[in-house]
Amino acid sequence: MNGSNLIRKIQMECPLCDKVHEIEERTRIAKIIIKGEEINYVETYYLCPDSDENENEFVSGKMENVNLLNARNAYRKSHDLLTSDQIVAIREMYGLSQVDLARLLGWGEATISRYESKAIQDEAYDNMLRIIRENPKAALELLQKNTIIQ
Ligand SMILES: [Zn+2]
Repeated sequence: MNGSNLIRKIQMECPLCDKVHEIEERTRIAKIIIKGEEINYVETYYLCPDSDENENEFVSGKMENVNLLNARNAYRKSHDLLTSDQIVAIREMYGLSQVDLARLLGWGEATISRYESKAIQDEAYDNMLRIIRENPKAALELLQKNTIIQ
């Protein structure tokens, strides 16, 4: 866990110095505990070169979300679960909205939205997604079962 990579240097408002100056955007391998397990993932952060070494880092709200998504996707990969991008790809393969795909699968309307952005699906839900990815006929059967016959 040593070292970090410089991604770019940008002029921005530095919350540590309270003024606009050149900030470094960097990445490094970080650790996080997910479901009781230590996971390594790529973390992005800002570094103020003008601040004291003990307090020279900060993240934006958007960066924090991306970091969490990266961490959860790293967990998914280590558990052989679909990543959020793969779930998006399945949905786009069928041209469905998040709500429509959730309905097709007989799940709560917000379920797909959560899996694409934050929550980690359990194995049963993962299997359902893989079934419709591999087998459009199964998707059609689910569509008839879960949406047409109400
Ligand atoms: Zn600064």
